[in-house]
Amino acid sequence: MRQSAIFVKNAWVLTFGEDARVIHGGGVLIRGGLIEAVGASDDVERLADGLDDVTRIDARGCVVTPGLVNAHMHLYSTFACGIAAGVSRNFTEILKNLWWRLDRAMTLDDVRLSAVVPAIRCLKSGVTTIIDHHASFGATKGSLDVVAGAVREVGLRACLAYEVSDRWGEAEADAAIAENAEFIASLASRGDPDLAGLFGLHASFTLSERTIRKCLEAANGVGFHVHCAEDRADVEAAREMGFAGAVDRLVRLGVLGPRSIAAHCIHVTREEVGLLASTGTTVVTNPQSNMNNAVGVADVPALLAAGCTVGLGSDGMTADILEEMRAEVFTQRQRLGSPDRMFMEACAMV
Ligand SMILES: [Zn+2]
Repeated sequence: MRQSAIFVKNAWVLTFGEDARVIHGGGVLIRGGLIEAVGASDDVERLADGLDDVTRIDARGCVVTPGLVNAHMHLYSTFACGIAAGVSRNFTEILKNLWWRLDRAMTLDDVRLSAVVPAIRCLKSGVTTIIDHHASFGATKGSLDVVAGAVREVGLRACLAYEVSDRWGEAEADAAIAENAEFIASLASRGDPDLAGLFGLHASFTLSERTIRKCLEAANGVGFHVHCAEDRADVEAAREMGFAGAVDRLVRLGVLGPRSIAAHCIHVTREEVGLLASTGTTVVTNPQSNMNNAVGVADVPALLAAGCTVGLGSDGMTADILEEMRAEVFTQRQRLGSPDRMFMEACAMV
């Protein structure tokens, strides 16, 4: 079968990966949706010359990288752009004054629009995959289906989840559990390899043990996507329940593990860093959001040194993950007092 090909030439090609290379005047040949060759433009062009039906793109002055990943996104948060929500003196007031009011007010039409616009912005900034954490408590049922339709129409690969929380009571939490379960169950019949699901939880401090146990039963082995130790309030609530912290509680209840994502992990003890590593939990750091909420800075070097996989997320602050990379480098250098750290680490996170 004849396959159309795309040949990109004369670019600055950044390969990333273990054998990270920067190729000046580089070329990339894509055929049948797969990258077939990467190298000097002249070398790759000889391969392209032997093919029929080749679209040629002169990318002189452009940078070509593998598709970037935003590992903790809230597409719906983009509807908050420009909203003033009164004075919030701490993290929990920010949640109550802004985010929980917004997600309670959304309709399914809002959900679709709030997904399409940032999805386009993601693609325009090089992001091809998002791991999204959705909430629209005014329109829970069917909302993940709407988000999926929007992001796949734009062309992003996506892993979706709905954040279960007890903040609106048991019936709303049950509806959120059902939304996760129904969406995850629907994946098999969709036959779309670029669409996946995790089971979403808001955070330890807004979830009773009873609700978490319901989620574990409904998830049936699927991994979780949860905010964890983003603010001291999450840790204090876990300690009042007899745990060492939010990580400790989520590990003991069986939420964290090799299929799960813990977003933020700022307020963690050394033992909890060890727990994140030993359980194989993926951590996602979100520096711009953390600065905006004044909740602290994750000790990413310690997480990496312990063996954790650490991804980078924008937490809905931006669709441009390169902005977030820049923020990650700057915040870690400031925290460490060292101007030569974290550049390659930040590149590896996306
Ligand atoms: Zn978040």
